[in-house]
Amino acid sequence: MEQGNTGVLKETKAQRAERLKKAKNPWECFAEIEEFAKQGFGSIPEEWLKTYFRWWGVYTQGDGAGVLGGKGGEGKAAPYFMVRIRIPNGFLRSDQLRTVARIAEKHARGFADLTVRQNIQLHWVTIESLPEIFRTLWQCGLTTMAACGDDTRNITGCPLAGVDAAEICDASPLVFEAQKMLVGAEEFYNLPRKFKICITGCPVWCSYPEINDVGLTAQKRKLNGQWETGFSVRVGGGLSSQPHFAVRLPAFVRWDQAMPVVKGIAEIFRDSDCLREARERARLKYLFLRHGWTAESFLQGLEERLGFHLDPPEPEEPPSDVYRDHVGIYPQKQPGRFYVGIAVLRGRVTAQQLAAAADLAERYGSGEARITGMQNLLIVNVPKHHVDPLADGLEAAELRISASPFWRGAISCTGTEFCKLAITETKGFTRWLVGELEKRMPGFNQHLKIDVTGCPNSCGQHWIADIGLEGKRIKIDGKLVDAYYFCLGGAVGKHQAFSRHIGYRCPADEVPDAITRLLYAYLGEREEGENFRNFCARAADEELRAALAGEIAVSASENPSLDAVPC
Ligand code: SF4
Repeated sequence: MEQGNTGVLKETKAQRAERLKKAKNPWECFAEIEEFAKQGFGSIPEEWLKTYFRWWGVYTQGDGAGVLGGKGGEGKAAPYFMVRIRIPNGFLRSDQLRTVARIAEKHARGFADLTVRQNIQLHWVTIESLPEIFRTLWQCGLTTMAACGDDTRNITGCPLAGVDAAEICDASPLVFEAQKMLVGAEEFYNLPRKFKICITGCPVWCSYPEINDVGLTAQKRKLNGQWETGFSVRVGGGLSSQPHFAVRLPAFVRWDQAMPVVKGIAEIFRDSDCLREARERARLKYLFLRHGWTAESFLQGLEERLGFHLDPPEPEEPPSDVYRDHVGIYPQKQPGRFYVGIAVLRGRVTAQQLAAAADLAERYGSGEARITGMQNLLIVNVPKHHVDPLADGLEAAELRISASPFWRGAISCTGTEFCKLAITETKGFTRWLVGELEKRMPGFNQHLKIDVTGCPNSCGQHWIADIGLEGKRIKIDGKLVDAYYFCLGGAVGKHQAFSRHIGYRCPADEVPDAITRLLYAYLGEREEGENFRNFCARAADEELRAALAGEIAVSASENPSLDAVPC
């Protein structure tokens, strides 16, 4: 309990959440949602609006305000919902894609957002349409269950699982097994907070196991002269306002141990009552950050639950500076087959585009599509002679398979348009920013991750971006405007490091100028072969600040040829 303004003791946020979760398993209460749909928005009690709906992948949304230069940020509630559809491993069949397109058209004002966790989000959904949406999704094998709430969120994995020529193994069956084990299960509906799992069989880690509560990454070992595929396991990763890279446990997890290990970690999380005391410290990472756990003590606790010891760890080489947005046309491991990656700027697609992608995947591929962690869409299993007609079809649907590095590398969170926690508008801003950078630096040809996030919660992953933009509001001439703080030099894999707040901020409409100045400074000052991450790691904060502010004298006219920049 905490003391309120009047001196009366009141429940803390955590106490309220725990009380509500104990009182009801929302997954058993679909009938209540149907009743709300009959009675209308006004009939929905506050505990559903603020808590229980999340277990069904549903949030109340903001009012759609907050376009660049607009007001935004007031956190106004509207009688509409965001609905998050979980897409395990990002795998979608064309019939599922078409179903989502139809729902988006009929109930969500004709568009959808692909997210960094391989989900699809719909907006403007009314209570009246929710039961129909759920049933339609169930009929095609999709669900929104546990897409939000204190439970196991969409389990991510390599979007190229099964088709990647370089993969160590196709780990997607484990993703689906883990979903079956944890989602909808009575024993795992009440976790301290969200629980994020990534299981990947590829060596590139584009689904970022390091920032998940549980990250399984495939590796091979030779045992008794035989090669065996298993996993390295990390726990306690997460971004938010206090980012933490997952801690690698000193163990090798055999394939058949993967599910018991995931379950054991979920149980440790569920049973850690110390994490239920404050909502903002209720993630697994706080066992390491605040409660003195170490990789060794975590492993010991895990093995006690498992009832057996895991094998000692194998050496592991995390990926080094691999940029993989999957955009373009690439050969698969299956001879004569290709996958085609569509660059979806900040994840936003129209219902027509989703339907077109479904049709094209059927006509020219095997009817399978994938969502990536960079908010993109892939069509897989395309025979060579179908690649060109598919590319034409995508172009006709205004879906790009080639784009500037800015278009390819930009992602954004939801922002004030629909997120009630947001400080700044992000989706419209990101589109505008990319257009401005394309105009200013048309020859720039290096991969760059520009991640825009509308508040410190980092759903837009600014902590692991080359250029992370964190939304704030600042006063200019007495008026509050959207602004961004610059965080530079984030990376995952071998060089994992969170981007640094380097002490530079500017109004949103000055961000393109600042980035342009920074990139020109980089081009002018970099050492031979130095990439942007390395440049940021080498430069001091004040130098980066000076570059952003234009205090380093590298003007566009003095620039080295952009064409000479190595990709
Ligand atoms: Fe909302 Fe903040 Fe998350 Fe963006 S980072 S979606 S603004 S909570």
